[in-house]
Amino acid sequence: MYSMMMNNLLLTAKEYIPLGLKTIDVLAKELISRSNVPVALHLDHSNSFELVQKCLVNGFTSVMIDGSKMPFDKNIELTKKVVEITRAAGDEIGVEAELGSIGGVEDQFIDGGSGEIINPKEAVKFVEETGIDALAPAIGTAHGIYKSEPKIRFDVAEELSNMIKIPMVLHGGSGLNEMTFQKLIQMGFSKIKVGTELKIAWYRALENSFKNGRTDPLLANGEAKEVVKEAVKAKIKIFGSAGKARELLISNIKISV
Ligand SMILES: [Zn+2]
Repeated sequence: MYSMMMNNLLLTAKEYIPLGLKTIDVLAKELISRSNVPVALHLDHSNSFELVQKCLVNGFTSVMIDGSKMPFDKNIELTKKVVEITRAAGDEIGVEAELGSIGGVEDQFIDGGSGEIINPKEAVKFVEETGIDALAPAIGTAHGIYKSEPKIRFDVAEELSNMIKIPMVLHGGSGLNEMTFQKLIQMGFSKIKVGTELKIAWYRALENSFKNGRTDPLLANGEAKEVVKEAVKAKIKIFGSAGKARELLISNIKISV
C-alpha cells in the first residue's frame, strides 16, 4: 500500500542543485543515517524530465514533476513518462504532480488565487492516466507571503477528495490559519508545504541575533535554528503528525513525497 505521511522530513533539492546532485546524495545519506524519523530526499517543482532522471540516479526517493504550465494533454504525457522512469528506479520512490496552476513566487508578497483552479473531472483523468502517487491541486493557495487572506476553494477540495483516492499535497501553506489546515487535512491533504513561513522565522531570528551584537555567523545561525525548530514543532502539532514516524517505521509502510 502506498502511503504518504505528514511527518517525514523533506530535503528540497531545487536550492541545492548548484552543489551538484552527487554532493546532495552523499550529504543527504549521511544526514538521513543520523535521523530516527523517515526522511525523503525530494526534488520539488521540476518541469524537466532530464532533471528527474538525473535525481533518480543520484539517490532521490521522491520527485515532483510540475507540468502545470503546459496544456493538459502535455502535462499528462510528461507526468506519465516520469512515473515510468520512477517505477523502473525503485518501488519505494514516489511521484507528485501538479494540476491547475498554483500561482505565486516563494518568498515574495502575493495574492492568493492568482493561479488557475483545478478542474476535478480533469483531475480524475490525470490521476488515472499518469499513475502518480500524490496530487498537488491548485485550490486557490499560492507560493509566497499572502497580502490578504486567500480565497481557498474548499468546495473544489471537497469534490476532489470524493473523486480521487491518492493523497493530496498543499502548496502555499505559509500564512494559512489552523482551521483551514484542519479542514484540508480532513479532506485528504497529507503533505503541507510551509517553506516560506519557516524561512521568514529563520531570517527574523538571524536579524535579531545580529542586532543583539552577534558577529559570528555560526552562532547566529545556531540561534536561528532553534527558532525554526520551534516553528516546525508548532506546525507538527497543528497538522496532527506528532509521533507518526514511529508508527510508520513499525508498519514499514512505503514512504514518499
Ligand atoms: Zn510548491
